[in-house]
Amino acid sequence: NILIEQTDPELWAAIQAENQRQEQHIELIASENYASPAVMAAQGTQLTNKYAEGYPGRRYYGGCEHVDVAEQLAIDRVKQLFGAEAANVQPHCGASANEAVFLAFLKPGDTIMGMSLAEGGHLTHGMALNMSGKWFNVISYGLNEREEIDYDAMEAKARAHRPKLIIAGASAYSLRIDFERFAKVAKEVGAIFMVDMAHYAGLIAAGVYPNPVPHADVVTSTTHKSLRGPRGGIILMKAEHEKAINSAVFPGLQGGPLMHVIAAKAVAFKEALSPAFKTYQQQVVRNAQAMAETLQQRGLRIVSGRTESHVMLVDLRAKGITGKEAEAVLGQAHITVNKNAIPNDPEKPMVTSGIRLGTPAMTTRGFGEAEARQTAHLIADVLDDPRNPATIERVRAAVAALTERFPVYG
Ligand code: PLP
Repeated sequence: NILIEQTDPELWAAIQAENQRQEQHIELIASENYASPAVMAAQGTQLTNKYAEGYPGRRYYGGCEHVDVAEQLAIDRVKQLFGAEAANVQPHCGASANEAVFLAFLKPGDTIMGMSLAEGGHLTHGMALNMSGKWFNVISYGLNEREEIDYDAMEAKARAHRPKLIIAGASAYSLRIDFERFAKVAKEVGAIFMVDMAHYAGLIAAGVYPNPVPHADVVTSTTHKSLRGPRGGIILMKAEHEKAINSAVFPGLQGGPLMHVIAAKAVAFKEALSPAFKTYQQQVVRNAQAMAETLQQRGLRIVSGRTESHVMLVDLRAKGITGKEAEAVLGQAHITVNKNAIPNDPEKPMVTSGIRLGTPAMTTRGFGEAEARQTAHLIADVLDDPRNPATIERVRAAVAALTERFPVYG
């Protein structure tokens, strides 16, 4: 760090400012977390210098004997963590993990089925502007009138369109997903069943959310959300798919793997195997439930009526404020959230009527239910009086007191 300060003071100032923002703001973006110092340190090692195209024991470069150890540790640990038959730890991110699955099993023009972005899915599951939407014929499923996944409609669409690949998984869905039901449908119509567990991976590793691994052909994930590792992707699969997936990742989609990031993934998987990680994830869910209940008491509607995970969508319409404005004013109060469309949102995607809240980051810094409730009250205070600078000032002071009590990196 002293080195960066000396060689590049301009960049160092930005890094320091970001450190300070992370310490002083309450982070509620559901896809973010604070990686451990060990995870961050692994990414700053000499492993960043190494080319290692191929897989452990089968590389296209010399000198890979030590990075082989790092990658094998990551593979073995992640298989143990999720009970997977095989794993690929090389995808650079969640999107490229999904693309590798498409490359392994599909041809352009094939039909795929995923959850619609507007109702909680991810853009790599078939959104029109994404590669998945441009190259494939996309059938989407969504929510029923109770704002739960409409499994009956999903099943009917699968029978009617016989997709080659069915994707379960979401970026803004608070309930448990019935992976077994998806698997049955996929089997019936002869589809490959893929689960993108990116959001729920940490909860799944700790056993507080259903594990899709026994039911799915392939399971993709990011490693940086609830799983609390470095930014990156992974693919877990049945042994029969290992060859196809491995060759889709390399040489199909990527060149040299990021060995320093793979080392950091190994560190994160070791941390996730510890009893402390289970306790942490249990607290993540309890904190989310405490927040949701408090927001409901303060007159806000939670989409789907509740949360069974780390995430919730808040319908802001009762307060007469858009998602865009709520994100901005909460930001002024040092509470970081993202605007998010709610089902059948009357506002445009850049405006929206909702915000998405998640508890992984606040729980990592030590917040329990009391602090989760306090945070929910602070959010409601701002949303009740969003144009009053005195309210913003008061909430920002309360946030400062809270974040000082719970430093992230100390
Ligand atoms: N899949 C899901 C369900 C996600 O929520 C995300 C990220 O938001 C991704 C994939 C993409 O991950 P990345 O941003 O690492 O490409």
